[in-house]
Amino acid sequence: MEKIVSLSKRRGFVYPGSEIYGGLANTWDYGPYGVELKNNVKKIWWKTFVQDRQDMVGLDASILMNPRVWEASGHVQSFSDPLMDCKKCKERVRGDKLIEQHLGIEFAVGKTLKEISQIIRDKKLSCPKCGATDFTEARSFNLMFKTHQGVIEEDSALVYMRPETAQGIFVNFKNVITSTRMKLPFGIGQIGKAFRNEITPGNFTFRTREFEQMEIEYFFDPETTSWEKIFTEWKEWSWNFVTKTLGIAETSLRLRDHEKDELSHYSKGTTDIEYLFPFGWGELCAAAAYRTAFDITQHQTFSGQDLSYTDPENPKRKVIPHVMEPSFGADRITLAVLLNAYDEEEIDGEMRVVLRFAPKLAPIKIAILPLVKNKEIITKKAEDIYHMVKGKFTTEYDESGSIGKRYRRQDEIGTPYCVTIDFDTIEKDDAVTVRDRDTTKQERVKVTELVNYLRDKLEN
Ligand code: ATP
Repeated sequence: MEKIVSLSKRRGFVYPGSEIYGGLANTWDYGPYGVELKNNVKKIWWKTFVQDRQDMVGLDASILMNPRVWEASGHVQSFSDPLMDCKKCKERVRGDKLIEQHLGIEFAVGKTLKEISQIIRDKKLSCPKCGATDFTEARSFNLMFKTHQGVIEEDSALVYMRPETAQGIFVNFKNVITSTRMKLPFGIGQIGKAFRNEITPGNFTFRTREFEQMEIEYFFDPETTSWEKIFTEWKEWSWNFVTKTLGIAETSLRLRDHEKDELSHYSKGTTDIEYLFPFGWGELCAAAAYRTAFDITQHQTFSGQDLSYTDPENPKRKVIPHVMEPSFGADRITLAVLLNAYDEEEIDGEMRVVLRFAPKLAPIKIAILPLVKNKEIITKKAEDIYHMVKGKFTTEYDESGSIGKRYRRQDEIGTPYCVTIDFDTIEKDDAVTVRDRDTTKQERVKVTELVNYLRDKLEN
């Protein structure tokens, strides 16, 4: 992971947040290449799941919502972690995680605060920092960030920063069915920021307190569609998205079904996709979580509004739809894409680092490189070619440093093709050298054919 963190900073993918002020723990800022990469991940997700499907529409709801939303969703009462402090070194640990690490996940899930304290005492589990076994009792800590709406703090209303994007979809379910032609089964997709006051953030962008989610709530009529069918379909669609569309190696991925006692009380089945991160297997996304009728029922009760769907075949029949939720983290997926692309290899006795992004994910698709920067005849031609290509593909112009160094730099940001303009371009053949990132092989291509050549290469 250190290699990815340092490459990310050196090459402008991800910087530590607020760095000139000494940073703010576990915040990260996406740099010029990182934002392109993450935007590509989001764009491809949106196209795959929202635009290319007849049974899906999109939404962009507010981060701040009426606090009743979070009472209805259960977050005010139960979105919390059991925390304990080591009495010796004052390290704060999550009781359930400590149990999970030492005894396995089946001992950690579904336990009360009392049971957690008891297990840790009985099994003499120790503090990871100092090794002591004396902890305070486990206390519940709500993970929602609170803020105030209104200028004068004392008079203002308490609001929460949303801990998931899903609820914005549920509260708009009725709006969507009354303003569109959508019929069950259909889904609503949304990309947006979420905030959780995580106790154990870390591992670079894997777990942060501010992150971005890409969520789908897929609504269906349980009388006409079996949940098992929808569950199986979504597991497959999510898996295909990660493996085929994003190209993450299947050998680094696995599906994991949640154990019965690990499921949320309203869920009948959840399957995660896990990725083998450098620190071990970790949840990449929830491929599908079956949430039953819980969400719409809760919001109907708390809001007092009729949120049912009228069966178009039988207008007397009202349906409270059931929900399947595939939920992806944009930052975690971007991190997995980076890790998956990272490669080191020796070429002609020299080591190179190369990010082997699929062209559609690469932040920069084409680099235009004049062989030398002090010959105007060459730089002028290179600039003309840059202007010819740049509106068609994300393109960068670079004239500083030796050509070898410039190739290395483009390899490190994962640019699939470098185009070099040299003396022969001007004097002989009106052609350029196109270098392939993965093979480092070079081909001579006529300037008049360049755009088509690159389009062919990038699309295949
Ligand atoms: P974890 O068990 O890792 O905390 P979770 O089960 O709480 O995750 P979900 O509530 O299922 O996560 O959220 C869906 C997705 O959102 C996750 O699969 C992950 O990709 C992303 N996600 C959740 N929490 C974070 C976080 N703190 N930082 C970055 N991404 C996150």
